[in-house]
Amino acid sequence: MSQLDNCPNCGQIYVKNAFREVCEACYKDEEAQYQTVYKYIRQRENRTARLDQVVEETGVAESLILKFIRKGRIHLTQFPNLGYPCDRCGRMIREDKLCISCKKDIEGQLSQLDREEERRRESLSGGRTYHAIDKKFL
Ligand SMILES: [Zn+2]
Ligand SMILES: [Zn+2]
Repeated sequence: MSQLDNCPNCGQIYVKNAFREVCEACYKDEEAQYQTVYKYIRQRENRTARLDQVVEETGVAESLILKFIRKGRIHLTQFPNLGYPCDRCGRMIREDKLCISCKKDIEGQLSQLDREEERRRESLSGGRTYHAIDKKFL
């Protein structure tokens, strides 16, 4: 099913499909920039380049390089110093969407919610389960 949309990059009307998020012209442009980036990082001495270095050396926008990384077109396993920002705090990460500390933070908040929920249920049930649950945290 094709659908007309404005290219998020240049604003041109284009036919949107599953493979292209931008118009034909921007797609070609992105491809050319991808080749530039890839040619650069593929060289042995550039494999350990950091993101800002790649941006500087290739002249390709950081956001576009990040897009290539997120789409898996640049495999991070081959480039130890590349990464993308954590969705929550912006720290450089190399897998998932969140960094470890944000993940812990969110898990902590979730388990706190769980505990609050348990406490609420305990007070409803007259506190009979209170000790059983309490022991778990000792
Ligand atoms: Zn476009
Ligand atoms: Zn984070």
